Amino acid sequence: MFSYDVLVIGSGIGGLCAAARLSELGYKVAVFEHHIRPGGYATNFSRKGKYSFDVSLHGIASLDEGEICYDVFSKCGIMDRITPLKKDHPYTVVWEGKKIDIPQNPEQYLTVLKEMFPHEKEGISNLFQDLYSFNKEMIFLKDSTIPKEEKQQLFPIKAKLFMQWSQMTTEEVMKQYVRDEEFISFFTLLWPYYGLPPRTLSSHYFFVPWLGYHLDGTYYVKGGAQAIADALAEVIEEKGGKVYLRQEVTEIIVENNKAIGIKTKKGEIFKGKWIVSNASPQMTFSKLIGETYVDPSYRKEFEKLEIGPSVTQLYIGLKEDPSKYNLVDEDILFVKEKDLSKDYDYLHNGNYEKANFGITNYYKLDPELSPNGKPVIVLAFIDFIENWPENKEDYQLKKEEVTNYFLEQLEAHYPGITSSIEVLELGTPRTMQKYTKNPAGAVYGFAQTVEQSGLLRLERKTPLDQLSLVGAWTRPGGGYQGAAVSGASEANRIHKYLKQMISS
Ligand SMILES: Cc1cc2nc3c(=O)[nH]c(=O)nc-3n(C[C@H](O)[C@H](O)[C@H](O)COP(=O)(O)OP(=O)(O)OC[C@H]3O[C@@H](n4cnc5c(N)ncnc54)[C@H](O)[C@@H]3O)c2cc1C
Repeated sequence: MFSYDVLVIGSGIGGLCAAARLSELGYKVAVFEHHIRPGGYATNFSRKGKYSFDVSLHGIASLDEGEICYDVFSKCGIMDRITPLKKDHPYTVVWEGKKIDIPQNPEQYLTVLKEMFPHEKEGISNLFQDLYSFNKEMIFLKDSTIPKEEKQQLFPIKAKLFMQWSQMTTEEVMKQYVRDEEFISFFTLLWPYYGLPPRTLSSHYFFVPWLGYHLDGTYYVKGGAQAIADALAEVIEEKGGKVYLRQEVTEIIVENNKAIGIKTKKGEIFKGKWIVSNASPQMTFSKLIGETYVDPSYRKEFEKLEIGPSVTQLYIGLKEDPSKYNLVDEDILFVKEKDLSKDYDYLHNGNYEKANFGITNYYKLDPELSPNGKPVIVLAFIDFIENWPENKEDYQLKKEEVTNYFLEQLEAHYPGITSSIEVLELGTPRTMQKYTKNPAGAVYGFAQTVEQSGLLRLERKTPLDQLSLVGAWTRPGGGYQGAAVSGASEANRIHKYLKQMISS
């Protein structure tokens, strides 16, 4: 039997940040990952030895000094181990056949918007004014120099918009300023980054990253998602911990309502003073912990929550620089459907021909992502596991059909580019589910609706002592920032308990 201070199940960003933060705080931590590499969705894979594909990272905000991700990654010990690469633009859109680079600078963006929607000039200015106020509120909320009690007292005055908007969808907030549905769509085209269209997406999940993208900038990281995961794993091991790969956890050992250890598929037992699960709550409480140990009402509570969407990605390795075919942008959204609720419905029903999609040009983001500089691009869209047959033959047929359709799309936008393809692989929601064990291959955990966000999102604290949940399914939510914050914040909470436990 092996023993560590803390055992972490799963090496997604949430699990790794919890583990790295606890390692930085002096604990001996072991992480268990069933896959061959750490990272969960934050990983790369290679093909033909020369193409490296980033599975998930398009952009992270708040990597500037003093901002949330910078702060969390610093506390996890990796800010000096990764190299953020600032993107030229948060994203580019192809709207009514015209290419528009969305400026990072908010004043430049405001000008673009007013030119495009002159009849909404005033409303747009008011929206931007309130976004600046919202930013001030966020600065107040992040300020750790203000004592907790004082912050609570000041909260209703200093965080008015934050409070109001926490109860509203993105569309409801927008409609306070503008009427033109087309403007609302244009402004919220990035909805796939959060998994729900503006009509149902909690406004915080849209506007908090918006501030990051436009006030600070959007970043890619040199070496891709894997560079972040590897840096976190490095910290854990340098501090005396261990990241066990190809080690699936099959059981959480519970005694007297306390989680005290884990059992792996290989039959090994590890003991720990605290267990952190970065596996989904469904897996944690339905597979890893025996039914008798958990109050059924707790399980029922989260079983009725809505699960967020997954993604399909077409990974493409090219022989030549994509700019040869006029693909010169970093992240491009192709808009076929302006009504974003319809867009979501098309994707939900697998009606891909009518829906919007995006292309990420990783060669532009980081020309050295592939070890020998081989260009990779990825075509992506929100998708749902129900669209993909379980039967192997039907699944393969559908994969071919969808691949061919999107190759036609690619060729239509960048004539000649398909002749340069050397590697082609489609990852579907079933692929996402297989590699991360997330139900339905969900990429942001529970759907980020108003009812499932903020304090209404699943707590990291669980009914069992010494067991926490971290990652996209829990507070504050999905994405790199959400998962990282959940891991590092939970590590700080665990530290308080462990300090007491060890000293008593
Ligand atoms: C295509 C795509 C694009 C994305 N783009 C962005 C983006 O640009 N910006 C952004 O912020 N976010 C993006 N995201 C979302 C972001 O990647 C995720 O929300 C985030 O990485 C989830 O982290 P997590 O901590 O919840 O863990 P996950 O990534 O869900 O990892 C959980 C880990 O636990 C492991 N595990 C589960 N059960 C067990 C077990 N029993 N034993 C051992 N290991 C187990 C899994 O193997 C996995 O490694 C994207 C996601 C995808 C898929």
